Amino acid sequence: MEWEAVIGLEIHTQLATASKIFSGSSTRYGAPPNSQASLVDLGYPGVLPVLNAEAVHMAIRFGLATGCTVARRSVFARKNYFYPDLPKGYQISQYELPIVYGGHLDIVMEDGRVKTIGITRAHLEEDAGKSLHEDFQGLSGIDLNRAGTPLLEIVSEPGLRSAGEAGNYMRAIHTLVRYLGISDGNMQEGSFRCDANVSIRPMGESELGTRTEIKNLNSFRFVEKAIQVEIERQTDVLEDGGSVVQETRLYDADRNETRAMRGKEEANDYRYFPDPDLLPVVVGEALIERLQADLPELPAAKRVRFAEQYGLTAYDADVLTANPESADYFEAAVNASRSASPKTVANWFQGELTAILKREGVDVADTRVDAATLATLLDRIADGILSGRMGKDVLEALWNGEGSVDGIIEARGLRQISDAGAIEALVDRAIEGFPEQVAQYRSGRTKVIGFLVGQVMKSSRGKANPRQVNEMLRRKLAG
Ligand code: ADP
Ligand code: MG
Repeated sequence: MEWEAVIGLEIHTQLATASKIFSGSSTRYGAPPNSQASLVDLGYPGVLPVLNAEAVHMAIRFGLATGCTVARRSVFARKNYFYPDLPKGYQISQYELPIVYGGHLDIVMEDGRVKTIGITRAHLEEDAGKSLHEDFQGLSGIDLNRAGTPLLEIVSEPGLRSAGEAGNYMRAIHTLVRYLGISDGNMQEGSFRCDANVSIRPMGESELGTRTEIKNLNSFRFVEKAIQVEIERQTDVLEDGGSVVQETRLYDADRNETRAMRGKEEANDYRYFPDPDLLPVVVGEALIERLQADLPELPAAKRVRFAEQYGLTAYDADVLTANPESADYFEAAVNASRSASPKTVANWFQGELTAILKREGVDVADTRVDAATLATLLDRIADGILSGRMGKDVLEALWNGEGSVDGIIEARGLRQISDAGAIEALVDRAIEGFPEQVAQYRSGRTKVIGFLVGQVMKSSRGKANPRQVNEMLRRKLAG
């Protein structure tokens, strides 16, 4: 029997507000434990939450960017459960009336085709605190700095059909929230994490199978791996004549397996009810219009524009627009360059520069070689002053702070030999010096040209313009 996987994601993204959703405490990451927890975050009696308007604006921006309906009236509810990192005994969330609902987002599938994924809803809620286990023997520490950080929970329709599609959808949402400037999307710091709901059903069946929910996946790779092993586990269960139990599971990355956490019988009954401390959120037309007018160019539109305007492949356009910093860098470099083609800029950005950024563990936003400098470097290559090989060395030198492009060229005596007379002399010397290879070339083994070019380059100490050397050699050998 052939099985079809059905997946829906619940993505929690921390909103990039300066202060918390219901208190004035800072949301900054990494402060000493409990130094950013006010009486509201600590759940003291007698204090009242006050809604942060900026969090609402950010949620609406997301809704508008995904074609959601913006609720003119939405309501905060209490989700009741007990946990040490939740001192109030309830989490303020939205339940029946979320802030935005009924939208969609296009993703690129593994085969390159585009698929539209439904977004059921996105609702506002507060994050919980954190339990700390490492530093406390036999005890747990509680850090409430994160308590009350605004979250937008984005719930998809069960429209994803493979682990790869789920990964691509999560990447697309990540790209979008970064473009909208509503989240830093930092996954190491937990700003962007997801629960994956997974079921399988016989191919062609229209009813949904029983699902499990894998909690708290915090990287694209883990989302894909966890879903893949869960699909395989469910397939084994069903093919052995068993049935899938609806339950919450955890992914163990070390063993690459999912494990039951709690079953439906023990599922929490959250006893949701409208929070009496908070008024309904009423959103007016003027606000929606203003937020709509403020939306930036969205990733999908930028991808299409990059491909058309700069003559890039769909793949290049996709990579370059994956985050706003890369897209801005590329466009700034193209605009600053006089003679390099956009394709060349794309190649150097995705190849050489990205390799250095990865090696050094630095984000594009913090690059030590800015777009204008890369443009100058590529101009020198396009103008024949530097070879590609020399260009790579100059890029390293730029990264190491050795000065400007032209300063480094001078200091290192890197000027490429492009003078036709000088190159002819070097070529003649190679033809004289390697009669055997010349004979081979002339008898049809034309691959040997690589060897001869190499000899010329060597005798010029790598400074001869390789394109000119190649042309001159071919001309002389043919003649
Ligand atoms: P809950 O709030 O209990 O987690 P929801 O009905 O809100 O449940 O669904 C949560 C997520 O699970 C959504 O993303 C939805 O698309 C997905 N989902 C629901 N049913 C299934 C199913 N049978 N298989 C896979 N995903 C599902
Ligand atoms: Mg859920």
